[in-house]
Amino acid sequence: MLNKLRGAGYGAYFVGGCVRDTVLGRRVHDWDAATSAPPEVVLGLFKRTAPTGLRHGTVTVLVSGRAVEVTTYRAEGAYSDHRRPDSVEFTGDLALDLSRRDFTMNAMAMGPEGDITDPFGGREDIARRLIRCVGDGERRFSEDALRMLRALRFSAQLGFAIEPGTYAAIERLAPTASALSAERVRDEFLKALASPRPEAANGMLALGLMARFARAEGPPPALSSLPAYARLARLCFELERRGSIASTAEFLTALRLPRAAVRECSAAAAVLSSGSRDYKRLLRDYGERAVLAAHPRSRALRRVLRSGECFSLSGLAVSGDKLRALGLKGREVGEALDAALEHVIDFPEDNRADILCDFIIGKRDKNGKDA
Ligand code: ATP
Ligand code: MG
Repeated sequence: MLNKLRGAGYGAYFVGGCVRDTVLGRRVHDWDAATSAPPEVVLGLFKRTAPTGLRHGTVTVLVSGRAVEVTTYRAEGAYSDHRRPDSVEFTGDLALDLSRRDFTMNAMAMGPEGDITDPFGGREDIARRLIRCVGDGERRFSEDALRMLRALRFSAQLGFAIEPGTYAAIERLAPTASALSAERVRDEFLKALASPRPEAANGMLALGLMARFARAEGPPPALSSLPAYARLARLCFELERRGSIASTAEFLTALRLPRAAVRECSAAAAVLSSGSRDYKRLLRDYGERAVLAAHPRSRALRRVLRSGECFSLSGLAVSGDKLRALGLKGREVGEALDAALEHVIDFPEDNRADILCDFIIGKRDKNGKDA
């Protein structure tokens, strides 16, 4: 791939995260390359390509089953909105392209023989397990505030410390992160939460990087012992309890999580705030996914789920149709099913059509007499 570009007379290197992860000995999950060739040339040189982001000089090239994003060396103009450069220029200069990148560890290039170009001391910082801005932290963060969230996210994923000057710049410039789109903030927040150090997600809140959405006070809740799917619910529950957010639903909706995720996480947070361990009734009221997200480690909950005992209307041995056939009408049907379920939760052995029909009819006759 690189050799083809080089054969045509252009500079070509792997760049960014894939070089960092190669140096770290981590599995590379996506490959990015940079080249002095303009995008039209890249499109012409390879058989299978997709013009992913031509305006930014990016072409996706498919070679030996791998998709590589190839971007023409870029230099960026001034930033006036803390988010995006006012202009992007293509350049023939690899060093300029590397200098616009966020952190020293992300500003290295690698040739086809594994030779590394490292103008900002990325390898040294990796050896010291440090995240450091390329150039002056305050300037780089005021160009693009997302870099501050990326610093915390990488620190959580890699277990690196943030170099003190870089960290001080984050503390000073945190309020400028309010200019970022909710989607970009959400992605970094969720990546931090899914990492081996999920408390960093709380750190984003504590530093005021997400002040538009919430601000956390006090020590972070312990999250790392929880499976990733359960962490967001626990964090939201804690934020709600401490008054940092009005509600989980409002917080996650503002962060633009998909509606189903908002619903499920709110339900899980409600399970936690109920404090109840009456698992069958919780399962009935909030659903299996929410209860599992709230109590991922509970053996008693697993036992209930494995037992096959009924906790939902759909698991009842009688249906609405059956009750209508027995002469029940309108609201009576729903009320009878609810009562049957309530009974079966306490007496699982009674979940049989004959027993439940007797139970329901008996109850109706008794009510009829009482009335
Ligand atoms: P990941 O493992 O999460 O993919 P990555 O370093 O590859 O990490 P990407 O978002 O894929 O991150 O970006 C690829 C490269 O582009 C980065 O390594 C960095 O060099 C550069 N980059 C990405 N975002 C920014 C930014 N906001 N400011 C400066 N450079 C950036
Ligand atoms: Mg990447």
